[in-house]
Amino acid sequence: LKLIESLRERGEGKPKTGAKGGISMTEKILVVEDEPHIQELLEYNLRQDGFSVVLCSRGDQAVEAVQKHKPDLMILDLMLPGIPGTDVCRSLKASPLTAELPIIMLTARGEESDKILGLELGADDYVTKPFSPRELVARVKAVLRRSPVSDVTHDEKLRSGPLVMDLKSHKVSLDKEPIQLTLTEFRILKALMSRGQEVLSRQKLVSEALGNDVNVTDRTVDVHLAALRKKIGPEADRIETVRGVGYRFRNT
Ligand code: CA
Repeated sequence: LKLIESLRERGEGKPKTGAKGGISMTEKILVVEDEPHIQELLEYNLRQDGFSVVLCSRGDQAVEAVQKHKPDLMILDLMLPGIPGTDVCRSLKASPLTAELPIIMLTARGEESDKILGLELGADDYVTKPFSPRELVARVKAVLRRSPVSDVTHDEKLRSGPLVMDLKSHKVSLDKEPIQLTLTEFRILKALMSRGQEVLSRQKLVSEALGNDVNVTDRTVDVHLAALRKKIGPEADRIETVRGVGYRFRNT
C-alpha cells in the first residue's frame, strides 16, 4: 500500500511551489547576495522560520538560478558581481515565465534612487541594510501572503473598456494585448476595479493590495501606482487620485 501511495503521489505530480494549488509545501526563497555573512544571516533566519533557502552570489547567475530552482520569492541585493540587481529585476520582469516572482530588494542606506528604481522595475518591497533579520522575515511573509493565487476562489473577469482582468488566470490585457503586471500592481488594480466608482482610501488600498504591512510607506504606494498607470498607458486616467481621500477607478 505504501508503494502504491508513493507511486500515486509521484503520478499526481509535481507539487506546485509554495501554497499554490492548495498544496502545502515549504516555500523556497532564493537569496541573491554576495556578502557571505549576510547570506548566512538570511539563510539561518529563513530556515528557522521554516523556509527552504537557495543561495546565489552573482547577479549574472541569478536568472539561471530562478529557472533552475523555481523559488517562491527572491531576495535580491542590488550591488552584485556580474550584473547589478536592478538588471536582474528587469530581466525577470520582462519574461512572462518569471514576471510574477515576488522580489524583495536589499539596498544600502541612502540609495533612495535605487529603491524607487527597483520598485518601478517591479520589485514588491525593499529592505535597507543594515536590517534586522526578523523584520526581513516578516516582509517575506507579508509579500508571500499577497501572492495572487491565494485569493482567487472563482472564475471571474473584471472589465473596463479595453482593460480586462482575468482573476483566475491572473492575466491582464489591454485591447486583447497581454500586459505584464507585478503581483502588487495586480492587487492594486483588482482592488480599484472591483470597487466600481467607489473611492478607495489609501489605507484601504494598502490593506487590500499590500496586506497589513505597517512598513508600507505612501511613497511605495505612489511608486506602484505610477508603474501601474504607465503599464495601462492609454487607460491610465481611469485611475483617479481623489485629493486627500484616496483613489477611484473610473469605469466609463
Ligand atoms: Ca552586495
